[in-house]
Amino acid sequence: MRRPFVAANWKMYKTAHEAIPYIIDFAPRVESFTDIDIVIAPPYLALPALAETITNKQIEIAAQNVHPEPQGAFTGEISLGMLQAFGVTRVIIGHSERRQLFGETDTDVNAKTRAAVAVGLTPIVCVGETLEERKLGRTLDVLDQQVTDGLSGLSTGDIADLVIAYEPVWAIGTGSNATPNQAQDVHRHIRQKLRLEFGNMAASCRIIYGGSVKPDNAASLSAQPDIDGALVGGASLDPISFAKIVADSRPAEL
Ligand code: PEP
Repeated sequence: MRRPFVAANWKMYKTAHEAIPYIIDFAPRVESFTDIDIVIAPPYLALPALAETITNKQIEIAAQNVHPEPQGAFTGEISLGMLQAFGVTRVIIGHSERRQLFGETDTDVNAKTRAAVAVGLTPIVCVGETLEERKLGRTLDVLDQQVTDGLSGLSTGDIADLVIAYEPVWAIGTGSNATPNQAQDVHRHIRQKLRLEFGNMAASCRIIYGGSVKPDNAASLSAQPDIDGALVGGASLDPISFAKIVADSRPAEL
């Protein structure tokens, strides 16, 4: 059984000072949840404050982006080693905002993903179709391409620890999430695609859903067999709301 995985993407919200009271409020709310991976991806400048404030080992810290080279003349960029120096264990790669606003391509996503895997940082690789692509019936083709190109060169073993975030672009920040059935169909397809490319290890790869996840829809999404958790933007900015999403994404009691 795959361990559920829920990540907060704070995007460009919250200063280091604002991050501290959030964690002080949030951490005790999720303290007893030992059956789920809980990850927070703050802006870079809040990483040190989070690393210092989080004493609960269950909450991991992620970055929202990274440069694939270990060092060099890349003004404004941050390397994997710099992130690891602050205890960062996961990194979001290829978020649709990076793709759409900053011109990131599948080739960039691949370079970052391979670099992260090489140093032992878990990539959370984002894929997703735009509204136009969905209307044209191209959803699965677009995702196949993103998966093939974004994960090219990875080994079967690398896939086991990878997290893929299916984030339909039309659902991000819009308030209209994919229905659980819509999302499940796509997640199942992504897993089949992974199986074709990487064999049975695909069964271990966590595929999480992102796009207007809220406290009132997290449970129904996570209840789907191929949905292993959530990547949460807006609703993760409030500690009570994010804690409720984490709680609702936990495995059902047997
Ligand atoms: C995101 O930014 O990854 C996201 C899913 O945002 P929201 O939850 O606000 O739709």
